[in-house]
Amino acid sequence: MMRVTAYLTRHHIDSDRPAGPGQLAEVDLDATVTGPAELRLAGLTVRDERGGDLFRAAGEHAYLFDPAEGGGPLAGTEDQYQARGFGVTNTAYHAARVLNLAARLLDRPLPHLVIRIGPHSVPGRGWGGGHYRLPGEASPPEPEPPARSGEIHLGTGRSFIERPDPGCSRYFHAPAHNPAIICHEVGHHICHHTADFRANRLRPPLDQHNGKVALDEGTADFLTAVLLGTPDIYGWHRGRIPPWDPRRRRLDARWTTACLCPGGGRAHTNGTVWASALWTAHERVRQAGGTGIVSALLTAMTRFGSRGADVAKEQQRRKHFSELLRDLLVADPAIAPVVAGAMADHGILPYGRNRELRWQMQARAGSPDAQTPARGTSEAGQWPGTAAVRP
Ligand SMILES: [Zn+2]
Repeated sequence: MMRVTAYLTRHHIDSDRPAGPGQLAEVDLDATVTGPAELRLAGLTVRDERGGDLFRAAGEHAYLFDPAEGGGPLAGTEDQYQARGFGVTNTAYHAARVLNLAARLLDRPLPHLVIRIGPHSVPGRGWGGGHYRLPGEASPPEPEPPARSGEIHLGTGRSFIERPDPGCSRYFHAPAHNPAIICHEVGHHICHHTADFRANRLRPPLDQHNGKVALDEGTADFLTAVLLGTPDIYGWHRGRIPPWDPRRRRLDARWTTACLCPGGGRAHTNGTVWASALWTAHERVRQAGGTGIVSALLTAMTRFGSRGADVAKEQQRRKHFSELLRDLLVADPAIAPVVAGAMADHGILPYGRNRELRWQMQARAGSPDAQTPARGTSEAGQWPGTAAVRP
């Protein structure tokens, strides 16, 4: 067990413009040092690959790094060292939280996850995001095949985020400092080993499909919201994007299937429809005295990814919201009526392809009845409206 620093995120609640990635805290981590910049935990390895010995200091304070405002290329040597060390401990802390939740609810640990900080970043051209990779074709291509059980790559950061309070110094957006990005990517690891939306377990281990569908992105966002305790998961680094803009990806707005964009390349935007519906269902189950829908969702995802043998057919089937909803309703009959009602409010029904759900919801939005907001809808829940897709 080691004492490390990490960001806690409860401060996001009730804040429309969080001042930073989280509240700095000391936490215990059941990890061991397995390299100059590598920590290993049960089911998880986190490694900074930019060279140097991050764990050179000895003693009980060796892992209490200072975030140093994200470090970055303009920071001094000591601040860069501190910010990188913090990136490793913060990533390990949040990834372990997600994996522990999944292991507890699935009653089994997930296969080992490797998180690498620094690939795909070249001097002068930083990368401010993250992605989840399996061996197989990918964009950008991977110089070496990722681990078969799954690998997350985090960039080293590309830009600064201005603080909302005047006089506060800006923060270099290092993805390893951002709990939302970490949790989202670990969410893909959970999806891969349960719902397997691209039917990769039916494909050769070294020829996996790295594309993501809307259900994958939306489920990862929903799990992030549960872990962070807020539906405004990207409120810090996207704080300048208006709350009603789909790029903000707030889950407490009522995004409906009427907002689905046909064609490729829209997995994040379309995923927000699924994510916000899950969030509505989760909140309603909690308001009714339950614990939410995460356990039922993971059970449903395991069932969902265990059927079928034909790759092409399964890839088609596993794109559709209604298919996963049916498994979700079966997973916990006690909450099924509440979940079904919440999903229907977002246009997600147990039958019909995504395009049919979109047509139906757009038709409903065009009827005079649809102009009246549903009872019990929060102010925030009305942003997307029932018909319009904001630019
Ligand atoms: Zn994603």
